[in-house]
Amino acid sequence: MKNIRNFCIIAHIDHGKSTLADRLLEVTKTITPKEMQEQTLDSMDLERERGITIKSKAIQMQHVHNDEAYTLNLIDTPGHVDFAYEVSRSIAACEGALLIVDATQGIQAQTISNLYQAVDHDLTIIPVLNKMDMPNAMPEEVEDQIIDLLGCKRNEIIHASGKTGMGIDAILEAIVENVPPPVGDPEAPLQALIFDSVFNSFRGIIAYFKVVNGEIRKGDFVKFFNTEKEYYADEVGVLGLGLVPRDVMKTGDVGYIISGIKTSKEVKVGDTITHVKRKCAKAIAGFEEVKPMVFAGVYPIDTEDYEDFRVAIEKLQLNDASLTFMPESSAALGFGFRCGFLGLLHMEIVQERLDREYNMDVITTVPNVPYNVYTTRGEKLEVHNPAGLPDGGSIDYVEEPYISAQIITHADYIGNIMNLCLGKRGELVKQHYLTTNRVELVFDMPLAEIVFDFYDKLKSISKGYASFDYHTTGYRPSKLVKLDILLNGENVDALSALTHVNNAYNLGKRMCEKLKELIPRQQFDVAIQAAIGAKIISRETVKALRKDVTAKCYGGDITRKRKLLEKQKKGKKRMKQVGNVEVPQKAFLAVLKLD
Ligand code: GDP
Ligand code: MG
Repeated sequence: MKNIRNFCIIAHIDHGKSTLADRLLEVTKTITPKEMQEQTLDSMDLERERGITIKSKAIQMQHVHNDEAYTLNLIDTPGHVDFAYEVSRSIAACEGALLIVDATQGIQAQTISNLYQAVDHDLTIIPVLNKMDMPNAMPEEVEDQIIDLLGCKRNEIIHASGKTGMGIDAILEAIVENVPPPVGDPEAPLQALIFDSVFNSFRGIIAYFKVVNGEIRKGDFVKFFNTEKEYYADEVGVLGLGLVPRDVMKTGDVGYIISGIKTSKEVKVGDTITHVKRKCAKAIAGFEEVKPMVFAGVYPIDTEDYEDFRVAIEKLQLNDASLTFMPESSAALGFGFRCGFLGLLHMEIVQERLDREYNMDVITTVPNVPYNVYTTRGEKLEVHNPAGLPDGGSIDYVEEPYISAQIITHADYIGNIMNLCLGKRGELVKQHYLTTNRVELVFDMPLAEIVFDFYDKLKSISKGYASFDYHTTGYRPSKLVKLDILLNGENVDALSALTHVNNAYNLGKRMCEKLKELIPRQQFDVAIQAAIGAKIISRETVKALRKDVTAKCYGGDITRKRKLLEKQKKGKKRMKQVGNVEVPQKAFLAVLKLD
């Protein structure tokens, strides 16, 4: 135990976490150059393309320092706000953290919020100034930021480059010398913290854990504390480049367990593994059920694909426990599912995986956050879709989720960002200068406000010089309305949205304008209306036009005429019939991209 070091890496996206991790694996000869694919820790294609680490993993290295052999466990953390809970469990499994800051960029929002978590867990922080090979590195300025944040000494900050290998030895030395070994009682009943799990189509669920107290052996009969499920530990082991089976995993060790678990839902990140016969008194603190915070209807474009779609989404959930779904139907879109996601990025990832891995084209309806609705009869309902909102008379009050939003930016953009966030019902709670021209802003804001075009706006008004992070803080009372869209008087359920009353008029107006652009002229006028209950709040009209495509073919070529008609028919397939109006599929998506 005294020669084990468990650490993670905290870094903002693109600050060089993966590259630096690769260097550590190379220098410790965990991976030969031949085995070294670029970015070993990011295994999914999608991840590699997006340059983010979606699922956290762990890898073990051996390192000799002053003639002593050390075992270093690197626990990788996901780099996006949607996966904040997984980050927190990875941090909880470590005794130390490398804080990597890009010397050309400085501290960003993600860095700070993860750093706060690491400090809360009493991790030893090793500050690293990365990308020092770059000519535009600003070591003094970024060092000032790090010192301000950590209260460390200038000479404690390691200068490094994942590209050239500069500083890698110093980092390994600091891990061994400064990060304390794990503490725990080898004689106590087993307590192992699950910090991640992955699905493997051959082996089922592989859960990653750290032994906090006691030990676990192959074949042991174990219990997962919070789910109360019991399994045999078919295989336990450490994580090298692959799975390396062991007979026993002791206090402080990091490794994996395979126990015949088939679906990701059965294993909860943050849960505690203990023995059935000698149960620990209580679970490791910090367990939470992660709850989806963004909901949207997801429908196959072709209604005939429903069965395939159901199979695809069930398979996807096997390895993505944070994805939830319930059958839902829509007059406009047919049969589909109400899906729950951790956040917007997670929603995009699921959509993209459905497309790539299952060849499923889907339509996603307007997303919304979950609302707590209290009825006059004293019931509490959790509302996940517009159709689920009871009618006004039976509602006592509604609550919506709030977040603490943290933005780090250049001082030049404070004004723009204030306007944006205050316009989105935000309240400024903190303004802190990190250096003379970099400032940290913290707002309390409704989560619903960042679901619509927040990221894009923030990016454009700050010319890209703003980083953003948030965590949910609880529910507050809200004035919620259901906004409906009518086409020639007919309600299009798939276009309904839940929105705060103050945003309803604006949203309705913009949706009508957007739909006017997207709905083609038909043989009659199409009235587009936005309504709250019986009250129409906005209206646009698409003027009638008789569209005769054959008119262009003068004269007799009948085969050409037929071809054109067939083409027109195909075009129609990409339309949805709503009452007597044909609506192009992209209209259902366009409302997400209102400008
Ligand atoms: P991550 O998102 O934190 O995992 O960052 P990556 O390791 O994927 O690196 C982001 C980008 O920065 C990639 O294009 C890397 O090639 C580049 N990069 C990473 N470390 C260095 C470095 O030390 N020097 C230079 N010049 N480029 C680097
Ligand atoms: Mg990476």
